[in-house]
Formats: sequence, structure tokens, C-alpha cells
Amino acid sequence: MKSTLEFNLRLQEHIELARASKGSEAILYSQKYLSPWQTTELKRINQAMGLLAFKSGTACSPYKELYDPNRWLELIDQFRADNYSLCSLTSHPLLSITLQAGLSALKTPQCYQHENINVNCPICDNKTLGSLAEKLPLSHHVNSTIVCRISGKIMNEDNQPMLLPNGRVYSLGVSIM
Ligand SMILES: [Zn+2]
Repeated sequence: MKSTLEFNLRLQEHIELARASKGSEAILYSQKYLSPWQTTELKRINQAMGLLAFKSGTACSPYKELYDPNRWLELIDQFRADNYSLCSLTSHPLLSITLQAGLSALKTPQCYQHENINVNCPICDNKTLGSLAEKLPLSHHVNSTIVCRISGKIMNEDNQPMLLPNGRVYSLGVSIM
């Protein structure tokens, strides 16, 4: 894979020795574990040796960045990314990919309009599946259907739309409920 994870971990151990002011231990460590990488990582090995001349509070670049504790977070990210590519996995969870495939068939512009949400539509629940579908394209509907706001059921000849005097339309099923 040509992964640099091992080198980065070795380098981090060297940095931790330097942070603890264990200069001679750091030199021994780098001779044993960093020097095998000389052909590809010579520049960074030289920086690691230069680091021994600076204390961990230094404001001097690039040693300030080497002492940065956030390097551990970068190592975590690299470990994950390398693990994914080693196992031929995507960094995206498979469950959300599968869910998004289904959600993209349901998404309508109304899903994100608060006054038009449908109680039976998973995407209209903007806190859960709706947020997962946020970046998906809208589904293409050839035929429109009228959906009752209260029951969430489709209005058709078996569940007819009823018009109230104020102009709002609900399905017949709601008036029987
Ligand atoms: Zn919806």
C-alpha cells in the first residue's frame, strides 16, 4: 500500500521522547526506527533531529507543528483511512449508503417545508432520516398524488378530498376518524 502510517507513528514516538526532554533516548530511537525510511522520508527525519534542539513550547516552525498534540488526531484519521483502503471499504458507512438509495426515491421539495410535512414520510422527519437525505437529489415523480396533511394517506376515489369552508382540504378518512 505504500502507507506512511508506520513512519508517522514512529515519528510521533520520537516527538514524545523529545517532548519529555529525553534527547539521548530519542537519538537511539530514531537510529533504530526512523533511519530505515531514509530513502523516502529524509526531509522529515532531518526535521525530527532538529526538533531535539527545541523545547515543546517553541514558536518556531516546523517544530511548533511537530509538537502539536493534534498530530495524534491526524494519526487516528490516517489509521482509519488506511484500514478502509486495506479492506476495500468506503469511509461512508454502508448502512447510510443503503438508506440514501431508498430515501432518494421518496424525497420531495415539500419534505423540508414545515407546513407541508407528511406524518408517513420518513424524510419529513428532518431530525433523523431527513438530515441523511439532505444532500440527495429530489426524486422524479411522473404523476402527482394528493396527500392528506393529517392522516398522511393518499387521497383518491376511495379516500376522497373534502373541502372545508376555510379552503383547506383533508381526506374523507380524517372526518370518519
Ligand atoms: Zn416528505
